Amino acid sequence: MRKTLTYAVLFTIGLGSPLWAEPVTTPSLPAKAKPAAAAAAAALPTPLPAELFRGQAREAYKAAAEIPDVFAGLACYCGCKKSYGHRHLLDCFSDDHGASCSHCINEALDAHSLFLTGTPPDEIRKFIDQKYGDK
Ligand SMILES: [Zn+2]
Repeated sequence: MRKTLTYAVLFTIGLGSPLWAEPVTTPSLPAKAKPAAAAAAAALPTPLPAELFRGQAREAYKAAAEIPDVFAGLACYCGCKKSYGHRHLLDCFSDDHGASCSHCINEALDAHSLFLTGTPPDEIRKFIDQKYGDK
């Protein structure tokens, strides 16, 4: 009796959740970076055109347009997460917030110059976190 019930339950669960049968993704790959980056790329906001701005702000918007995927991986520590709901540095340049925030601009220019020297995104993130992170 008890056995029958167990089978019945398993059967029901199996039918109810097709995910149960899904193969586990191979854990050996450095898979983390790729699919995440692809998913992020699909949903990346577009930075405002750099021509709208002047000076360092223009450079920062230009940088955002050049390497949006890198910016999307960087936290912005200016406090805009709370006040504007920005998720990452790219968000700061998808509206005009970045133009008036020297903090965002500094992060952007740092990230961009690191990128130009061939620094991988992971290292850029570490640098930004250390230089601007919660103090
Ligand atoms: Zn910001």
